[in-house]
Amino acid sequence: MNIFDNNQLECSSCHDKVIFDFIEEIECDWGIHQVIQCPNCEELFSIDQKCPAFSNFNDLFELNPNLLTNQQKINYFNQSHKF
Ligand SMILES: [Zn+2]
Ligand SMILES: [Zn+2]
Repeated sequence: MNIFDNNQLECSSCHDKVIFDFIEEIECDWGIHQVIQCPNCEELFSIDQKCPAFSNFNDLFELNPNLLTNQQKINYFNQSHKF
């Protein structure tokens, strides 16, 4: 279950309204993420924490302000890879 199911969102990369594909596990050089992928432009956004390997979820959030609760937002932006 995830918040992206049946939720049309504006993609911050191609600016189409799309239903993102949810990918439960994808590896980056530093760990494993949950990501969503735009079915139109195939851009990937990490949704569990910020990651330099994927697009910034923040851009998506700014276009779709109802996407996250404040608490979810805080959780997301407080987590990122430690370099
Ligand atoms: Zn897109
Ligand atoms: Zn990563």
